[in-house]
Amino acid sequence: MLRYDLHCHSTRSDGLLAPAEVVRRAARRGVDVLALTDHDDTAGLDEAAAAAGEEGIAFLPGAELSVSWDDHTIHVVGLGLDASCAPLQAGLESVRRGRDARARRIADALAQAGIPGAWDGARRYVTSERLVSRTHFARFLVDAGYVREMKDVFARYLARGLPGYVEHAWATLGEAIGWIHAAGGVAVLAHPGRYRLGPDGMERLLAEFRDRGGDAIEVLSPSHSAAQVARFAALARTHGLAASTGSDYHGPGEGWIDLGDLPPLPGGSLPVWSRL
Ligand code: AMP
Ligand code: MN
Ligand code: MN
Ligand code: MN
Repeated sequence: MLRYDLHCHSTRSDGLLAPAEVVRRAARRGVDVLALTDHDDTAGLDEAAAAAGEEGIAFLPGAELSVSWDDHTIHVVGLGLDASCAPLQAGLESVRRGRDARARRIADALAQAGIPGAWDGARRYVTSERLVSRTHFARFLVDAGYVREMKDVFARYLARGLPGYVEHAWATLGEAIGWIHAAGGVAVLAHPGRYRLGPDGMERLLAEFRDRGGDAIEVLSPSHSAAQVARFAALARTHGLAASTGSDYHGPGEGWIDLGDLPPLPGGSLPVWSRL
């Protein structure tokens, strides 16, 4: 059975390893099919694809798109993208464009909360001029000693309702799915267990995602408990959606699991790769 990992990040967004390093690590860890899915950017895909060729593993070009849905931020992973697709690139650029101004507002909010210099601080961790993310602020806050580890940052500062969080309008769900489909890809609702929607909200999100042409949901994710894996496998089936799997790896020492550290999909799941 092939080992799939269809969600991870490189230095082209908020990961710690260069695209080729991500691929080499995945190959070393026994991944047979890897998708690189940087936030709102496809800039690392050529390097990753070349490295995958050298390593002899299969590679799927991907991206993780930021979406605002009904007052929530959700993520939609596109898999099997043709990165030369003009509507996709225009869409990604429009999403990235908002990030710099948002980062300024995050820095202002942190200053209000007694943390000066966060803009320059976060900039030191940015590895792509095209993309600044909350992760870069988080690394600054940890290394500057304001919190002990990454997850504490999001428990104390950068998540909704906390000082250091600012609202932001990302793409719409319909736009994100449309750009992914225009590029010949499949659209996967990323880590649904992370969204604080309540049962009704999740039902509405899944129905709208499917009605707008969404293809799959990420069933296996380090964000999910065993009970959530079972729940999302069942929800995928009842909504006619395929199931995906991804480590959401960001780099050594960060996150819960390493590249490829995923169990097989639950029995009865339709694998997303059957739709690629
Ligand atoms: P952004 O797209 O700029 O809003 O940044 C979101 C990123 O922050 C995610 O992709 C994760 O890498 C990181 N993140 C969000 N919540 C957490 C958390 N609770 N613990 C660790 N990292 C997180
Ligand atoms: Mn991230
Ligand atoms: Mn995500
Ligand atoms: Mn991710």
